[in-house]
Amino acid sequence: MQTQKSLDEFRNEPFVDFSILENADAMRTAIEQVRSELGREYPLIINGEKISTGKKFESINPAEKTQVVGVFSDADEDADNLTAKAIDAATEAFKLWQQISPAERAEYLFKAAAVIRDRKHYFSAWMIFETGKTWAEADGDTAEAIDFLEFYGREMLNWAGHQPITASPYPEHNTFEYIPLGVGAIIPPWNFPLAIMSGMTMAAVVCGNTTVLKPSPDAPTIAYKFMEVLEEVGLPAGVVNFLPGAGTAVGEHLVASPKVRFISFTGSKTVGLHIYEEAAKTRPGQKWMKRVVAEMGGKDAIIVCDDADLDSAATGVVQSAFGFQGQKCSACSRLIVDEKVHDELMEKIVKLTNEIKVGLPTEGDTGMTAVINQKSFDKATSMIQKGIDEGGKVLTGGGGDSANGFYVEPTIIDDVAPGATIEQEEIFAPVLAVIKAKDFDHALEIANGTDYGLTGAVYSTTQHNLERAKREFHVGNLYLNRKCTGALVGVHPFGGFNMSGTDSKAGGREYLLQFMQGKSIAQKN
Ligand code: NAD
Repeated sequence: MQTQKSLDEFRNEPFVDFSILENADAMRTAIEQVRSELGREYPLIINGEKISTGKKFESINPAEKTQVVGVFSDADEDADNLTAKAIDAATEAFKLWQQISPAERAEYLFKAAAVIRDRKHYFSAWMIFETGKTWAEADGDTAEAIDFLEFYGREMLNWAGHQPITASPYPEHNTFEYIPLGVGAIIPPWNFPLAIMSGMTMAAVVCGNTTVLKPSPDAPTIAYKFMEVLEEVGLPAGVVNFLPGAGTAVGEHLVASPKVRFISFTGSKTVGLHIYEEAAKTRPGQKWMKRVVAEMGGKDAIIVCDDADLDSAATGVVQSAFGFQGQKCSACSRLIVDEKVHDELMEKIVKLTNEIKVGLPTEGDTGMTAVINQKSFDKATSMIQKGIDEGGKVLTGGGGDSANGFYVEPTIIDDVAPGATIEQEEIFAPVLAVIKAKDFDHALEIANGTDYGLTGAVYSTTQHNLERAKREFHVGNLYLNRKCTGALVGVHPFGGFNMSGTDSKAGGREYLLQFMQGKSIAQKN
């Protein structure tokens, strides 16, 4: 049945208020439910068939590293064959899936959104265990996944409708329509393990493409839980094939395959650039130039001007820098502050930072917990040392403890020079570099002085400064007098400039066009 849903009536899924006893109880119940399901084994899924491999890998709880969240068949073991098999299944499924009407395809997304909404705490609880999300962060991720499904379903209905074209001077009937591309490789990161993973996958699927989903080895269980949702709503076999691997072999094979038409990647700059280069090579049997959507990292800055509301700025900086342990691509990792208000602002920021409760993510009052893995812990601690070596001064934090989990203290390094390593390189951990600026001109110059261009914020009470920021601060997502994290689907289409990616604007009205091609049809009267 044709649905009446439209982009104009789309509204974001509300966040859960855990100060309400009933909501907190529901989350505790979900956490215990998931705890009882930890450590199970999960297969690959190719054309609906569950396949177990001999070699397995484990996904662990970063906050309690001896706790195994899930045990996975490792497709990297026989990546060549298994990737080929999954791509063939997707190629076969594409023959039928592309014929299914857009409205019917969208219906699967709406049904999946309803399933997740019904059991939202259950999905959030998996993220709490597998990726170290606090209750609020996990709930935000689940809400965003629901939003992506609801939004992209509606977006598809929009692009499937009448497309305006100019009247022809000839006696003919003209139409313009969008058709799918083919088989896509979906390569998501671990940090928004439900929202970004499901959004990337289902955006491609709703357009009529079929996919091979290679989840992050740090968050495969959540991806498997999403595969269960797709099975529950009856998505035909082969439309989404599931190929987890402990390393990079599956990813490499997917990107290189001549049968893959497009790659949808979100992750680090290093991997993104590698994929972009590999995808540009034409291999024997390949009939197309691969399309690559690559959303990558950031070195996001908040500028605080001398006329800013410093209390509001301090709150925004601390939330943006340390929410989810600084592991959001949008996280503030650079604070650029006018030297005239530096001391006053830093006093407020250090005070707020020291109030953050670091602990287990399963506890409802935890504000910050562990970073994702040992590699991330090591990088954070070595970058903190690098910051000190290059002349920075630690105002708070600086330490870490990886005995039970990968805990890095919320760390603020002051007196960082523009161009210093920790001012230029993404760390992806709770490490904030503070840089003093002489004035707003200088602040903008520092803010724009990296290869990235993802998010940024400016705190100022002068409209003139804010207008200049609109014109001169070169980021895909600019925020004025508010934090630089927390983009909402539909409200803040998300994606960055320069080395932050292809500016695909996830959660925006044109996002789906990247997974379709336009076809003009003229018929003589
Ligand atoms: P990552 O680059 O390490 O991994 C991303 C994905 O690529 C994973 O699934 C990984 O297994 C896969 N991969 C790794 N090597 C590969 C290869 N050689 N070939 C094919 N696939 C390969 O990133 P991550 O640690 O999972 O995520 C964190 C990064 O993602 C950060 O840089 C963050 O800024 C970025 N990110 C960006 C956005 C955005 O919208 N711009 C959103 C979220 C995260």
